[in-house]
Amino acid sequence: MTNELDVSVVVPLYNEEESLPELTDWISRVMQKHGFTYEIILVDDGSTDDSWNIVKKLSAENGNIKGISFNRNFGKSAALNTGFKKATGNVVISMDADLQDSPDEIPALRDMIINDGFDMVSGWKRKRHDPISKTIPSRFFNFITSKISGIKLHDFNCGLKAYRNPVVQHIEVYGEMHRYIPVIAKWNGYNKIGEKIVEHRARKYGQTKFGLERFINGFLDLLSIMFVSRFRKKPMHFFGTLGSLSFLAGFIITAWVIGDKIYRLHYKLPVRDVVDQPLFFLALVALIVGAQLFLTGFMAEMAASRSHSANEYLVNDQIGF
Ligand code: UDP
Ligand code: MG
Repeated sequence: MTNELDVSVVVPLYNEEESLPELTDWISRVMQKHGFTYEIILVDDGSTDDSWNIVKKLSAENGNIKGISFNRNFGKSAALNTGFKKATGNVVISMDADLQDSPDEIPALRDMIINDGFDMVSGWKRKRHDPISKTIPSRFFNFITSKISGIKLHDFNCGLKAYRNPVVQHIEVYGEMHRYIPVIAKWNGYNKIGEKIVEHRARKYGQTKFGLERFINGFLDLLSIMFVSRFRKKPMHFFGTLGSLSFLAGFIITAWVIGDKIYRLHYKLPVRDVVDQPLFFLALVALIVGAQLFLTGFMAEMAASRSHSANEYLVNDQIGF
């Protein structure tokens, strides 16, 4: 697929009024220096400062600058997703608005997509200029995510990334899943994922938009993404398996309780009431939980089969039609 533009730069921003002119100037300078045709898509994620007015002003001055504005703060993932779907460049670059990522990295990132055949290249802020309260937990997260996903990256959440255009058209980034874009890409079949060490700078203006809750949310998102990616189209495989196990356990325990009672009655051994035995309650719980899991599985199957995306797989190529 040949698009008209060489590069689309997608920038999610939330209250970044001071940084915008400097950022767009810098990006434009780099693009002109390398002779790339480009667009800068500034996605204003419901800023409450003057950001949107500045975006409009910048766009009026420079035809390569485009803006999208949300009516409230939907989050970085929504902003990226919206910008991605509008991007027409052969290579799509995402970067933060706060000048922590350097536009000077763009040509090398683009080169890795165009000439080295990567579907996606993620920046690695090897030397970070962030507080230690952020860098230590982040190392832990990157380690876990890398182990679970099998993707060898050091810095999943780096804002600076480059993509081949079809990749961003085909992945859905929602909630706070921007932390796991490489994982989403891989699960969509884009597994040529590269990494490039990038310069990272201290935040120049404004302040970070993510507090410590990022780590709790990040962990929960990792669990969801693992679950969804594996079972979204077949939830019964998950709930049904657990339900069967629970039901089977309940069944065996019930059989045991009944068998034991008959045996004792038959041989005139001392008997207890069935309801006096802990095993009885265990069996009861196991049977009920088993049935509930099955019901959950059926409900989830219905939701999955009715959703429009139930069959949304990607045809890569076709011939002879
Ligand atoms: N951002 C956004 N919506 C939000 C929060 C952040 O678009 O709800 C943008 C923010 O303006 C910045 C980027 O996402 O361009 C990264 O945010 P930040 O620099 O606060 O994150 P950090 O560098 O601390 O990880
Ligand atoms: Mg930042």
